[in-house]
Amino acid sequence: MQEEKTFIDKDYIENVLFEAKNATDTEINAYLNKAERFEGLNHNEIAALLVNEDPKHLERVNQIALKIKERVYGNRIVMFAPLYVSDYCVNRCTYCSYNCKHEFERKKLTQEEVREEVRILESMGHKRLAMEAGENDAICSIDYIVDCIKTIYGMKFENGEIRRVNVNIAATTVENYRKLKEVGIGTYILFQETYHQPTYEKVHIAGPKKNFAYHLTAFDRAQESGIDDVGGGVLFGLADPYFEVLGLMIHNEHLEEKFGVGFHTISVPRLCPAEGMNMADFPHLVDDETFAKIVAIIRLATPFTGMILSTRESHSMRQRLLRLGISQISAGSSTEVGGYTKRQQNVEVNVNPQFFVNDDRPALSIISELMDDGYVPSFCTACYRKGRTGDRFMSLAKSGQIKNVCLPNALTTLAEYAIDYGDTAFKQKADAAIACEIPSVSNEKIRALTLANIEKIRQGGRDFYI
Ligand code: SAM
Repeated sequence: MQEEKTFIDKDYIENVLFEAKNATDTEINAYLNKAERFEGLNHNEIAALLVNEDPKHLERVNQIALKIKERVYGNRIVMFAPLYVSDYCVNRCTYCSYNCKHEFERKKLTQEEVREEVRILESMGHKRLAMEAGENDAICSIDYIVDCIKTIYGMKFENGEIRRVNVNIAATTVENYRKLKEVGIGTYILFQETYHQPTYEKVHIAGPKKNFAYHLTAFDRAQESGIDDVGGGVLFGLADPYFEVLGLMIHNEHLEEKFGVGFHTISVPRLCPAEGMNMADFPHLVDDETFAKIVAIIRLATPFTGMILSTRESHSMRQRLLRLGISQISAGSSTEVGGYTKRQQNVEVNVNPQFFVNDDRPALSIISELMDDGYVPSFCTACYRKGRTGDRFMSLAKSGQIKNVCLPNALTTLAEYAIDYGDTAFKQKADAAIACEIPSVSNEKIRALTLANIEKIRQGGRDFYI
């Protein structure tokens, strides 16, 4: 079969990785200096850092990753939770338990069940969801997804509501993306799974997802529809991880060139055990050291792109990766359709989750321990509500003004969370974190406004943001 030409050229990427081994110490230092100036890196420079095995360079990579993380994102960690609405799927993906050949009792939530799941997620304090679904146009159509989003945005609780719904559903048409845009989604997230086309075609045995080019160009169609916050990712474990990072970065460059803005977020899922698959069938599983190096290098390469880590990773790995660039994590997650309701009713959970999570601590423990480690958990959803999407968000981030926007919003939403969902110990920790961080809001007027908003929250007000 004649392969459709795309902006991902396998031979080219392999050659870049091969040539990258020749980078001299002087060149590597120049790339590291460039990254340290927050200028990002191109894929040739990224390749040189990836293949370099000198521990002194890796140490600098890690130091710069931490520096970028602290300078651009401060101590803030944005919190979210996934919401699985349907596990019907027409694809045969070898790594996924939703594989259509895997027999189990499938489920699609009714709107009442969506409401029940959202009630529980809200009671955990979540304000930002990532909606997930298998691909099945007949059973789980775009109109169903749109209805779920309307249901979620239509729900109001005593303490607030879900304020941002990001969507991770299969690659689709411009017309369908337009429907998602109209209903007000946050980021459209889609993982390429693998940029290595022969592997892509091998692990996607059948179904619409098998079409590499169609999947790869999904963000082009999303952008055409007006969705300008798109979130990319690779499922690490399917092919050579360095090849994957280069594919991801070339994808980012393609979007920057064509639309003036690259990925809003990058996710770094690693393959996990799941029902119906066997980890032993995957020869490219990524070890912890390589994974940490990759996260740090992506942070250097794309300093202003949020990096997302899910509960696929263990508590200790998450702690380590937070220092290397991760800015957004999930908490209290269920990866099963209807899983939050089942968990609350003490019905056996994980009957068929999409994959088994590694960090199954309750949301409050995760959020509380983040504060013990010096982070400020943020429930902010302000940017897209204020129209700061696409290149408008990027220019704000690059200007350094993010400190006067994201930090105030993080502190305000943390105050809200502490009052509404925290116990006494949590409230004390949150008050201490707020007091410690407030001086970092450098603009005097915004600092005063933030303090005034936090006071209003203490008096019963909600949902203040700038
Ligand atoms: N059906 C949509 C699609 O095809 O892109 C939505 C994706 S699915 C609900 C979310 C993601 O879970 C997938 O893109 C895949 O990367 C990831 N996933 C699937 N099986 C996994 C596994 N065994 N371990 C870790 N992540 C997995």
